[in-house]
Amino acid sequence: MQTAREHCDFSCTEKMCLTLDKIGVPRDNKWRSLVMYMRGLSYHDYLSHQQKSQLQSLLTHVFIEKEFSDEKFAELMDKNDKILAAPYIKKIQATASESQKLLQEFQSTLRYRRGDIRDLEDSTAKALADGQDPEVVIASLRIAFRDLIKTMDQDVARLDQMCRTDSLTGIYNRRAFDEFMAEAVDKASQRALPVSLIFMDIDKFKVFNDTYGHQVGDQALVAVAKVIKHCVHDYISNLPSEMYTARFGGEEFAIVMPGMNEEKAAFLAELIRKAVEGYNFLLRNEKGDIIQRGIRLSISAGVTELQAEQCSPSGAEVLLHNADLALYHAKGDGRNKVVRFRDIQA
Ligand code: GH3
Ligand code: MG
Ligand code: MG
Repeated sequence: MQTAREHCDFSCTEKMCLTLDKIGVPRDNKWRSLVMYMRGLSYHDYLSHQQKSQLQSLLTHVFIEKEFSDEKFAELMDKNDKILAAPYIKKIQATASESQKLLQEFQSTLRYRRGDIRDLEDSTAKALADGQDPEVVIASLRIAFRDLIKTMDQDVARLDQMCRTDSLTGIYNRRAFDEFMAEAVDKASQRALPVSLIFMDIDKFKVFNDTYGHQVGDQALVAVAKVIKHCVHDYISNLPSEMYTARFGGEEFAIVMPGMNEEKAAFLAELIRKAVEGYNFLLRNEKGDIIQRGIRLSISAGVTELQAEQCSPSGAEVLLHNADLALYHAKGDGRNKVVRFRDIQA
């Protein structure tokens, strides 16, 4: 009797070969390597948990449908590419639209200042043509330039603030978040204090968007950001520390908590979770009139802490990775939950 391996192009183990036979995967390199690749995805750290589960569900469909045609293979590869590219496309689109807004603001600011300089040139030329004392003209020029420099400094501060603010929700953006994280991790090791991170994600937001539309989704993002901000404000009002609330991207929010441990972070995350759960979202039309009340949303959160002695140059990445893993468990545990990284380390 011939063994399964003799008929199989693909270099899998005999046991695996028989398992794939049982599932009905054809014995050709193409299908077997695709199935093995998808099966091994959980080992790839560069993929998000969401991507892994999307790819896993693709694979499950392959086993259920048992259709091993060339068309099906091409369709699967296409879906695979889209899943892998999705986070990058989303990021590129968001960055491009944000950059465009910033560019417009830069251009209009420069146009204003060019106008100011032209006005100054005209008024100086006129003063001299009118026979004003050059000493007086120079003195007023000096004052005008000083004012202009002050205005330009304010422009720089305003544009810098814009570069660090999420245009939809008005809280810090991902760029600012990355800076705060790096700074917080750096300071934590210098001051021998921990740093904690809360990583939050709105539950089933795709369904929310599908139900109410993208614009209402945007309103909900603004409202959730407001709820988070209020909770942080109330929580911190009695503490001598600073915390940074940012929109990490899409429907994800994060709070960097320098000097605070995981317990404090979990406490705040639970306050936020409850506040979002209890929040009565109002649906408004374009005129701003309320057209529906009582819409509910929830968030899941992952919470983690980095001890001062764990703070290395990759500390920010470790924090993010651990918070994301805890968030993934919160999602897996039914959503609308806060999960501490410590609790999933068993
Ligand atoms: P889960 O509970 O697993 O997080 O499910 P989910 O539906 O929230 O997660 P998924 O990643 O499948 O979908 C995220 C959705 O968030 C899809 C996307 O359209 C929506 N989203 C991301 N950014 C924005 C935005 O700026 N505005 C709106 N309206 N929706 C957004
Ligand atoms: Mg998400
Ligand atoms: Mg979500």
